[in-house]
Amino acid sequence: MTDFASLPLSPALHPGLDALGYTTPTPIQALALPPILDGRDLIAQAPTGSGKTAAFGLGLLQRLDPAGTRTQALVLCPTRELADQVGRQLRRLATGIANLKLSVLTGGVSLEPQTASLQAHDPQVVVGTPGRIQELARKRVLHLGGVRVLVLDEADRMLDMGFEEPVREIAGRCDAHRQTLLFSATFPDGIRELARQLLRAPAEVAAEAAGGAPAIEQHFFDVDPAFRQKAVADLLLRYRPESAVVFCNTRKDVDEVAGSLRQFGFSALALHGDMEQRDRDEVLLQLANRSCNVLVASDVAARGLDVEDLAVVLNHELPTDVDAYRHRIGRTGRAGRGGLALSLVAPRERARAEMIAAVQQPSPSRQNAPLATGRPSQPAQAPMATLRIDGGKTDKLRPGDILGALTGEAGLPAAAIGKIAIHATRSYVAIARAQVERASARLESGKIKGRRFRVRPL
Ligand code: AMP
Repeated sequence: MTDFASLPLSPALHPGLDALGYTTPTPIQALALPPILDGRDLIAQAPTGSGKTAAFGLGLLQRLDPAGTRTQALVLCPTRELADQVGRQLRRLATGIANLKLSVLTGGVSLEPQTASLQAHDPQVVVGTPGRIQELARKRVLHLGGVRVLVLDEADRMLDMGFEEPVREIAGRCDAHRQTLLFSATFPDGIRELARQLLRAPAEVAAEAAGGAPAIEQHFFDVDPAFRQKAVADLLLRYRPESAVVFCNTRKDVDEVAGSLRQFGFSALALHGDMEQRDRDEVLLQLANRSCNVLVASDVAARGLDVEDLAVVLNHELPTDVDAYRHRIGRTGRAGRGGLALSLVAPRERARAEMIAAVQQPSPSRQNAPLATGRPSQPAQAPMATLRIDGGKTDKLRPGDILGALTGEAGLPAAAIGKIAIHATRSYVAIARAQVERASARLESGKIKGRRFRVRPL
């Protein structure tokens, strides 16, 4: 197996690899990095969780001229969540590069601060969603003429979401002699055609062909449709995953399943496509800070969802096509760790199940759904709960201020406090569930940084 030391990586990238704790390249990195570092265009079949971000991230950081003040690299992602995630990982990989200017530019937030920051200086690396990047480029506040590396991440998803035209326009604005790297989990005709038009003599690699795709254990459970919700709860209790996503095919099912799981005592939250951006962000934040242990989602809502170590993917109902199934289960078993995918199959979905099972490696097991009776003996709640504080960066709040207000004299033990996230006008703090009322009372009656803020549990 190749290791990072045998690749011609610049020494400035080693601190980043150390910071992330990467010692051995994942299969997609071992296959993709040699042509990328050679400056070639690339088509990579890489499912979510394969380590593709570091593959293109190392490539684009290697080519960066740290003295250059223009935008030199652009990564396009289908969703805001994925762009944020990619931006974070690139920043960590760039630990050894002094003063890297990287901006994440996505829709769903107002244009003005982005415009103001771009007018102040051009970021060297931009990560963003196609709609917003197109808009900023058309307004001539984002200058793409110096982009020497263009990355299309999850290209199939971008096409599914109708971003083909912005992607083409954006590519047309980049340097004609650029390197283009296209990553996609699937290769429908639309992707082939896009690659033919935007890439030059690309190298082609596939993570799965190398046998490197993480093994995902798959089980199909026959179920009477009347007991589907009960079966979801029973399976979660049987496997007791630390975190799980339950996929539903309709928005109505998403709401109903989340509601029924909460009744069974789970810390379950719903995520669907037509939620306000802020509500979506709050749901994802609670999943990340361990206040939610079951996310119930539709396919659209889960695009770009990237959660470390998702132990189980559970299909409340099978999707109607194989690609959607592959995307769903690809959210477990990340970076070589084994994953678990459970699917309920009602009698009328048997044909669908057979079609999907026929192309899975290893083949899914087939059994009857467990039907435990009664309520769970142990509550299936997440270990933490989240408090929202109506104050944030604009109030100059810092994590230490909130930590101080909670743990000060006769306060909570530091171990009861989890992740603290400070946003522009709000902050979120995860608290051990048993301590949450105490924490809330303390914050409301006391002061943070000498001021009173409204606090409420999410
Ligand atoms: P990605 O497919 O880029 O979303 O990466 C999936 C996960 O694998 C992320 O949690 C990465 O931090 C992790 N990862 C990527 N490369 C490596 C590596 N070489 N060694 C260990 N973990 C990695």
